[in-house]
Amino acid sequence: MKERDALAPTEELPEDAQLYTTQPSIFMDTTPESYPDGWTECLVSPDAKAFILSQPEFPAPLLRPSALQYRLSPTPDKGLGLFCTAKIRANDLILSERPLTLTPTSSSTRMRFLKELDAREQYLAATHEWEKSLKFLFDRLYPDYQAAFMGLANSHKHDGSGLVGGIIRTNGLGVILPPNKYSLEEQQTRRKGVYSAVCKEISRVNHSCSPNTTAHFDVITFSFQLFAVRDIAQGEELTLTYTDLKAPAEMRQSDLEPYGFHCTCSACATSCTSDALRERSMTMQIDNIDDGLLKLALLEEQGLESSGQYCKTLETVMELYIGIGDADNASTCAKKLVNRRWSSLASGAKLYTSPLAIEKFHPLWKGGGNRDLERGADNLECSFGGLELGQAE
Ligand SMILES: [Zn+2]
Repeated sequence: MKERDALAPTEELPEDAQLYTTQPSIFMDTTPESYPDGWTECLVSPDAKAFILSQPEFPAPLLRPSALQYRLSPTPDKGLGLFCTAKIRANDLILSERPLTLTPTSSSTRMRFLKELDAREQYLAATHEWEKSLKFLFDRLYPDYQAAFMGLANSHKHDGSGLVGGIIRTNGLGVILPPNKYSLEEQQTRRKGVYSAVCKEISRVNHSCSPNTTAHFDVITFSFQLFAVRDIAQGEELTLTYTDLKAPAEMRQSDLEPYGFHCTCSACATSCTSDALRERSMTMQIDNIDDGLLKLALLEEQGLESSGQYCKTLETVMELYIGIGDADNASTCAKKLVNRRWSSLASGAKLYTSPLAIEKFHPLWKGGGNRDLERGADNLECSFGGLELGQAE
């Protein structure tokens, strides 16, 4: 049977080329009924496509939560939102879905006539060209997916954005592809490798500055996964952050302006006290276990369990417990990290969920690193680099 997205060699293409591709690849007669995991219409660079296809297990089936625990309902002031229909526990997978579209966050279109235009005209001309590229992508969407896409909010109706571009700007979730190719500076200033994914369901999750969920893109299943970062009560609205949670309230509000709403969450409503507490919880140095536990408590108090700082602090506290020889508490921290499957630190903690494994294999165990130093340099490689079973002694 003919595949819709035949694989073509991409080596000769320039780095800034963009390819239209359907991922995972589907047959011409595939429908959402015949393939419920779905597929994504992508506009990506040759190296992003090569990275996706190089994953040995791609495309793995979607991870499914044990039960459907949310529904779409109107909110008082933010249009539609997702609400819990049953209590959801911290770290539970709430839903996973393949995005409808995956597109670069900025156009790489080269425009020869730009020099004769003023800045506003240049912006509008470039936006018009970009919209044409996005409309071509939209036309490739399956009709049901087109309807889902068009059902999403658009807060860019009056700034020159086209319809497709406006919906992507309003609803897109960030994805970096390939994940480790570009520096943070290249991503931020030149938008290298930065993509925007529009999802039928997760894009409907509204913003909070103390969000109760986090969205993680998993390349192997080619899906966004929505996880609870703390317990969520029945009836509570699911929330994500659209902005930098470290920033003070005033900066967050200005960041949120393009989305067309003013955040009224409890952190924004009490910014005169919460700004200082947030800054302290995000930046405080940890010199000992008590500091670490205090930092975790402050982050929880501010509803910042979705932040990278929370997992980083858990890891630091785990290492501090290992350093004083408390394997039980260290393994408890490791288990908490492993449960946060969306974190990049989760896989590194897997080996240390049992106190016995910590005692045997962790290089910091009761100053074990120092003892190795005394034994000589030859043993260092074994104790620090070789954390596989059977190599530590
Ligand atoms: Zn807020």
